[in-house]
Amino acid sequence: MNTHPAMINDADRWRSRDLAVLWHPCTQMREHPDALPLWPVARGEGAWLIGHDGRRLVDGVSSWWTNLHGHAEPRIAEAIARQARTLEQVILAGFSHAPAVELAERLLAIAPREPGRAPLSKVFYADNGSAGVEVALKMAFHWHRNRGDRGRSKFVALSNGYHGETIGALAVGDVPLYRRVYAPLLMDALFAPSPDAFGADDAEQRAEEAADALAGLLDAHAGEICALILEPLVQCAGGMRMHHPAYLRRARALCDAHGIFLIADEIATGFGRTGTLFACEQAGIQPDLLCLSKGLTGGFLPLCAVLATQTIYDGFLDDSRERAFLHSHSYSGNPLACAAALASLEILENDDTIARNRVTAAKMAALAAPFASHPAVADVRQSGMILAIELHPEPSERPAPRDIADKRVLRMYRAALAHGVLLRPLGDVLYWMPPYCIDDAQLELMADATRAAIQAAHIDAADQEPPACV
Ligand SMILES: *Cc1c(COP(=O)(O)O)cnc(C)c1O
Repeated sequence: MNTHPAMINDADRWRSRDLAVLWHPCTQMREHPDALPLWPVARGEGAWLIGHDGRRLVDGVSSWWTNLHGHAEPRIAEAIARQARTLEQVILAGFSHAPAVELAERLLAIAPREPGRAPLSKVFYADNGSAGVEVALKMAFHWHRNRGDRGRSKFVALSNGYHGETIGALAVGDVPLYRRVYAPLLMDALFAPSPDAFGADDAEQRAEEAADALAGLLDAHAGEICALILEPLVQCAGGMRMHHPAYLRRARALCDAHGIFLIADEIATGFGRTGTLFACEQAGIQPDLLCLSKGLTGGFLPLCAVLATQTIYDGFLDDSRERAFLHSHSYSGNPLACAAALASLEILENDDTIARNRVTAAKMAALAAPFASHPAVADVRQSGMILAIELHPEPSERPAPRDIADKRVLRMYRAALAHGVLLRPLGDVLYWMPPYCIDDAQLELMADATRAAIQAAHIDAADQEPPACV
């Protein structure tokens, strides 16, 4: 692509001003500027990110899984602008506002339902996913306390799960890279084996085995546990590992049998990512607490909603303030974020997005199918608008790269960028999680970039040319 020299200078200027003052999330800053090309974004348009140098990239990861309908979607932008001119923020303790009420009504109306079970009936707002996980954990624990049951202070989580970066959320997560160093700070959680179907001949049997192990764990700790937390269908940060819905049905029944709450963390899987509006629907189950964030606002503003049952809500009603759920965030239920979420939900409905995604997901499957036979590829798997291509691990006898820039994950990342696509591999796993508006040409570009990334992974680090910056 031709870029005007003045624009390149503009991009360079932003790059150096950035590196002088910013400390980026989830980043070894040593990798900038050489191994990881920092890429200043001037604007977004649908599935495109447009750089200060004029280059376009397909946002293959929906900007950390937040974006649903495309960048700068005008209907959401307009809803936020309208709300900003009306009421930008107000304290949500003792005060109320229409966007918070309307959004709660809408979320409860579309939440997963299970026949014979009382529906989710209350919404508690937080302002990001990790905070919502903290809310759900604290609610589950506090509810049992309020009943006078002081023995239940443990949480069960799944191995390879991820629930965020705050101390409580890290404690129920199991991605070693994020967790290990903080382990001395974390409360003790109990981990049940992941039902992950990777490498199994029979996904359903794997799910049943994992559920048997969960049953054993719950029996061994009867009376000590307040809740089970899991990511239904796809363990996203854990490498887009997927499991059979049979596991969720067993987990639901086991939680009921043991009198513990089921917390579904649909922060990544919610709002159509797995092919249905919520992943729980594919198992026909309803959790006691449902955490929603990321796609909630269509990817425009930070917001989290924790949906709870009436039983949980009622457990906090008392004359004592101490029995109340005193958790809060300054921006709980921010009107701008609620307005964005309402606009996003309206688009999901009016544009028949879930049905259209079925067509897009089928195109993704067809484009990715050839990768399955590549010698470097161990597995190609998909759940709706999430498609993962898992490479064989690097041979352990290979010496670690001398230069940080030679790390395989960075080689793959740079190769995809050079082909005009933002893909952010999770270790050995390349994945596609694009905005729902992605078109055919952009999908093909994603497949081309993926081919290049796999090729780049394949090259022996020792034979590698010095990395070319894009
Ligand atoms: C991203 C994520 C979180 C944390 O959300 P943040 O907004 O990044 O704090 C929690 N759970 C799951 C499943 C996630 O994917």
